Amino acid sequence: MIDSSANPASLAVERLAGDIVAVTITVPGHRQNVMTEAFLEELGQLLDSLERQPPRGLLLASGRPGSFLAGADIERIDRLWELPEAAVKGLCDRGRQLLARLSEAAWPSVAVIAGDCVGGGLELALACDLRVATDTRETRLAAPEVKLGLLPGWGGTVRLPRLIGPGPASELVVAGEPVTGPRALTLGLVDACVSPVAAVPTALQLLEWAIADGRHHQRRQRQTAAIPLDDAEREFLEATTAALILSRTGGHYPAPLMAIETMLRGCALPAAEAAVIESEAFARLARTAVARQLVRVFRLRQRNRRDSGLAAAAEESAAEPLAIAAPAVIGAGIMGAGIVARHLRSGFSTTLVDIEADALARAVPGILDEAAWDRQRGAADQERALKLAGRLLPATSLAAAATADLVIESVIERTDLKRRVLAEIEATVPASTIICTNTSTNPIATLAEPLTDPSRFCGMHFFNPVRRMMLVEVVRGPATSDATVATVVAHAKRLGKSPVVVQDSPGFLVNRVLSPYLHEAVELLREGIDPARIDKLSRRFGMPLGPLELYDMVGLDTAFYAGLVMASAFGDRIDASPLIPAFVKAGRLGRKTGRGFYRYRGVGHEARLETVDEALAATLEPYRLPDRAATDGEITDRLFLPMLLEALRVLDEGIVRDACDIDLAVIYALGFPAFRGGLLAWGDSLGTAEILRRIERFADLGPRMAPPASLSRSRSLLAP
Ligand code: NAD
Repeated sequence: MIDSSANPASLAVERLAGDIVAVTITVPGHRQNVMTEAFLEELGQLLDSLERQPPRGLLLASGRPGSFLAGADIERIDRLWELPEAAVKGLCDRGRQLLARLSEAAWPSVAVIAGDCVGGGLELALACDLRVATDTRETRLAAPEVKLGLLPGWGGTVRLPRLIGPGPASELVVAGEPVTGPRALTLGLVDACVSPVAAVPTALQLLEWAIADGRHHQRRQRQTAAIPLDDAEREFLEATTAALILSRTGGHYPAPLMAIETMLRGCALPAAEAAVIESEAFARLARTAVARQLVRVFRLRQRNRRDSGLAAAAEESAAEPLAIAAPAVIGAGIMGAGIVARHLRSGFSTTLVDIEADALARAVPGILDEAAWDRQRGAADQERALKLAGRLLPATSLAAAATADLVIESVIERTDLKRRVLAEIEATVPASTIICTNTSTNPIATLAEPLTDPSRFCGMHFFNPVRRMMLVEVVRGPATSDATVATVVAHAKRLGKSPVVVQDSPGFLVNRVLSPYLHEAVELLREGIDPARIDKLSRRFGMPLGPLELYDMVGLDTAFYAGLVMASAFGDRIDASPLIPAFVKAGRLGRKTGRGFYRYRGVGHEARLETVDEALAATLEPYRLPDRAATDGEITDRLFLPMLLEALRVLDEGIVRDACDIDLAVIYALGFPAFRGGLLAWGDSLGTAEILRRIERFADLGPRMAPPASLSRSRSLLAP
């Protein structure tokens, strides 16, 4: 018998009637079940004891709601980087051998998957003979290793194609996206998908059938044999997945391609040999700089999820953030509509006020479509949209927001108008209501002036399009209270966003570091560099859009206004370029008018980029600077180094807490390449001496290339 009084901390073991051993996983000290060192040790001990005293069958389940088992503890993954390749390979072999003891045991096993079953957790479930998933939204199965720059290292690339076929297995491993229980059943990844109450009885039933007729033995044979593909099959898979991966990753991420290659090579071999290839590939990837950066970004995300937005000292004395129940948004433009849709999607009944009835009428159908959007179907769920219609309360008078507990002002970007609207909001709502503004450029201090109680006021700056952009800048004005910040941070998280707290300052964080990049692109253009080359080099660096394409998307008029704000604050280094007003005057506003730096077919969202606008040269002519030859490397440096220098100034001025916040913000708001770890991680990988050497070449360009004083010292850019 297993001594249940000495149950280890992560695994609770019970012998059920019929000599079935039920093991419940609850890893202590973590929010979800993860494979800690202790967990693995306990699993080993459990298998020792089961091998000594074999049961008829084994049932594995989780004792933690919402989490079956996630993969390896991220701190362990983070340390892989420092280990020699052979040591990483050794860790893979050890883990795989542990799981092999399950898949080769004298008795059959079943995993009951309720909640997240991810990475190593999925590999453990795959090592069982049978799997039962629950049919709730909480249950998701995924092999997300490629998102960390890795591949499944405990037999996942070997077991998956043998279980569900190489095609579906490639898709799971390359995309790294989760599948639900019902989808897992369709794929053959699980043997049953049932309601949570039926899960254990179903698993026990499957186990009994397996014990009775030994059907699991055939499956074990399939799992260990080679599954050779014919040449045509193999070529097709290789070609389509490689093209797909390259289009998704721009060639910057080695893991997805290596995962496919490993999996396809492994298919032709017996499982034991395929596993060796997998360990080798994992060990090579684990030591790449890309994996290191992606793991760091993963940790930044984790930190952000736990972050209250307050300094440690303030956190101790802070009251619980208010749970917002009745939000209101003022202004039904592009941004207001997106913010309301996000609220509805997150379950909030929401009031939307606009003085223009027409603006409301225009906005409402789009809001409902967006809020009820079904990603899998690629269309709005009409039934859901109808339900949500009852939760959207449009109105033309502010009085409709009289009982709101949080109001987000998102009217047009005019300082006088915003000040008036904010004062009216304050006069309308209860004294406890939190008031936010979605301004992009106005200082919070200026907008706070007309308010009687500015402590309950702050910026809540969403990015366009709200549905896609994860970042929200929570901007702290001089009088904003800790309680306000904590509530707005918590609320942004309930909307599924990632809030970063920023001190009030022109451009806040994101627009401030973006400005020098956009400005430099225009300077390069004025020096005779081809626009398509500038954009191509930016994309090659890893940005989703080049700077000139971005100008066209944001709109040259909007960029002009933002540029003025930045120039008046930081004119010594960020001039307002004369080219932008010339574009605005010529009506070349970008996608919205079908012409900007590029010419488009159609306008607005539908606009398709055709070519560099042939009229560009004439508009540019009066503003041309002397030609300056530049290599690709120099152009790339000119785009990104001024951005890095500005980020260092932001840090020096204490606008954000640390480098991690900047890195996360630029990844989330600008699509800065995650494989570089963010702006400061990229700078840190260059090193201070190299940055100084590179900017030295551009010293003649003036103060915008001058290093901030803090850079002259030898320092790590990531240190607090
Ligand atoms: P928009 O012009 O599309 O919409 C503004 C809406 O405000 C209009 O529907 C207008 O009728 C309404 N409005 C004007 N006065 C009002 C009043 N007194 N009461 C109620 N409604 C009133 O503007 P937008 O692009 O949605 O921008 C809104 C805010 O969001 C601005 O502060 C802008 O700087 C900020 N922002 C915009 C973007 C962007 O990319 N568009 C990104 C981030 C933040």
